[in-house]
Amino acid sequence: RKIVNIAGINIDDITMEQAVKKIYHFISSDKSHAIYTPNSEIMMDGISDSQMRQVLNTADMLVADGAGVVLASKILGKAVRQKVSGVDLAKNLLKSSSKKPIRFFLFGGKPGIAEKAQANIICDYPYADVVGTRNGYFSEEDTEKIIEEINNSSAEVLFVCLGAPKQELWIHENKDKLKAKVCMGVGGTLDVLAG
Ligand code: UDP
Repeated sequence: RKIVNIAGINIDDITMEQAVKKIYHFISSDKSHAIYTPNSEIMMDGISDSQMRQVLNTADMLVADGAGVVLASKILGKAVRQKVSGVDLAKNLLKSSSKKPIRFFLFGGKPGIAEKAQANIICDYPYADVVGTRNGYFSEEDTEKIIEEINNSSAEVLFVCLGAPKQELWIHENKDKLKAKVCMGVGGTLDVLAG
């Protein structure tokens, strides 16, 4: 991993192409991986809050979502190569599944959003296999059932779109129970895909 340390947070210095390649590598491995795409706001949380910093730093891939994060890296004289936003990363993965199929689970958004995103994915990325959806409004005691649903779907890549920092904390807490090889906190991605 080539890392750029921004005020104690280890951001991957990685291009979009390399990120997609690495995700395929994660999929073919035998453990679950966490990917977060912090914007400047989440970076600030991570800088001021040591618990959030630890969550971010235990990610298997941490990519700079916002232009602000890229700018900060430049100011520090340690430029990350490229902005890799959560939405772009998700879209690139959906696209590359035409070459090498991936099973996706869409978790998050208001009721109906994940299903709408799924319908659009079927049109726009016919080779991407969406094996399950679940809205992002639930109580603590539903978590176990949601995890079971995700695991039963045999999804390889899980998009978690609960807003930040909820999605990062949810992945951090539940990663070891999830069979998906890649759990990505990708914010408003489902709203974009549903739009
Ligand atoms: N969201 C969710 N569950 C929640 C809170 C938010 O599924 O408990 C979804 C919300 O519907 C939206 C996405 O998370 O699709 C991003 O939410 P928000 O805009 O609040 O987060 P931010 O853009 O600040 O990360």
